[in-house]
Amino acid sequence: MKHEIPSSLASGLYIGGQWREASDGGTFPVYDPAREEKIADVANGTVEDAIAAVDAASAAFAGWAARKPRERAEILRRAFDILTREKGRFARLMTLENGKSLADSLGEMAYAAEFFRWYAEEAVRNIGTVMHSPASGARILAHHKPAGVALLITPWNFPAAMGTRKIGPALAAGCTVVIKPASETPLTMLALMEVLEEAGVPAGVVNALASRASGAVADVMLHDPRVRVVSFTGSTAVGRTLLKSAADNIVKPAMELGGNAPFIVCADGDIDAAVEGALVAKMRNMGEACTAANRFYVHDSVHDEFAEKLAARMGAMRMGHGLEGAEVGALVNADTRDKVAGFVEDAVAKGARALCGGRRHEGRGFFYPPTVLVDVPDTAKLLCDEIFGPVAALQRFSGEDEVVRKANETEYGLVAYIYTRDQKRGLGLAEKLEFGMIGLNRGLVSDAAAPFGGVKQSGLGREGGHEGLMEFLETQYVSAEW
Ligand code: NAP
Repeated sequence: MKHEIPSSLASGLYIGGQWREASDGGTFPVYDPAREEKIADVANGTVEDAIAAVDAASAAFAGWAARKPRERAEILRRAFDILTREKGRFARLMTLENGKSLADSLGEMAYAAEFFRWYAEEAVRNIGTVMHSPASGARILAHHKPAGVALLITPWNFPAAMGTRKIGPALAAGCTVVIKPASETPLTMLALMEVLEEAGVPAGVVNALASRASGAVADVMLHDPRVRVVSFTGSTAVGRTLLKSAADNIVKPAMELGGNAPFIVCADGDIDAAVEGALVAKMRNMGEACTAANRFYVHDSVHDEFAEKLAARMGAMRMGHGLEGAEVGALVNADTRDKVAGFVEDAVAKGARALCGGRRHEGRGFFYPPTVLVDVPDTAKLLCDEIFGPVAALQRFSGEDEVVRKANETEYGLVAYIYTRDQKRGLGLAEKLEFGMIGLNRGLVSDAAAPFGGVKQSGLGREGGHEGLMEFLETQYVSAEW
């Protein structure tokens, strides 16, 4: 079936409240990964365009920062209402450019909109403190001011939510922004500009610039002294590059980077609940998530039952175009599909067995079938790298110290999952695990109200919750006598 491409597709640069072409007239194509067909040409922002976007954000900053928090809150709340009203249209567009199932896209839209509602509520809770200096007796007044123009860079796996998770707190804090969406999936973010405009966001407060020259445009913006924050979600490798550039002008960084999540099923875990949780932690977004369960450690006594039940559920999932009711959509591009296939081939060559899936899909579209691997040896590459696909790799364990050591044996520290009926054991394990987030008897930790983020090479800073607002604020302290 041919899917209709929206005729009103926003595909230009959105700078200072105006849609425009790239300064050199250049464009780049965006594809439907399930059909390998072009769906749009998008303006390819240049370095000159990036400077124009910073000009617009900088010109709008003083006015936006001076708006009363309640006014900023009400604009964000309207953005939540509009995005909720439009979620079906957005979900279809997202499925078309990303490949994920419509159910995943609808789930993402609800999550994405929630950041506008949460930060509408946080905009009016920018609370400072006053205290007596113990030594001098002066008053210590600490209050928080908007940090300035923020550069936001987002990945392709959650084309809406990774943007709203940054735009929401930035606008609530009084910052203005330039957002650069991923080149694989820019259309959702460009369409979001129309929502923000309708909600009443003034011209220049949010600017969007898609660009294939991501390194050059990010670099020029990070070396512009008007840019004071860089909030990035993406790979650890690109995060490192951005941190180096940010160091030159001491730009405040927030980095949400890669993950390699362990999923631990203890002997006393509820196996049916663990399988349900594993399906969410593994199969949401076909495994293309930084929070995706990557390494399953299952207690010896329950391993076979868990493996069989998980394989039965994953093996029964229907694969196909996300707009045609499939549960498993296409991966975002050929490279991602080939990387996943390579990981499985490597593990099988080293002794792993596939209980379901395990073979490349023949035909059009960048699909890979849901796969459960058991007897995965320690040397398999997929245990140390992000799989970013619908592949669950299982290992057995027998002792708690052993599983903690294995789970922590990674440079990443984003999220870990634990299934146990004993909360004492669960919380004890959580404390020993070097991860920023823990799913305890839950396969999903994402929540607009929670501080999302990692330790070690999974990043710096937090998004969501009150902490997310603080990333866009600077603290000023006044030492006062009265
Ligand atoms: P990526 O290659 O790092 O790209 C992310 C963004 O950075 C894209 O907009 C990309 O633009 C841009 N970019 C690439 N090279 C750049 C450079 N040299 N300078 C500035 N920007 C640059 O990551 P991805 O493949 O899109 O996303 C997958 C990664 O994101 C995974 O590692 C995943 O774990 C991580 N992720 C983390 C979180 C989290 O919250 N911790 C959430 C989601 C995803 P182009 O598209 O134009 O190249």
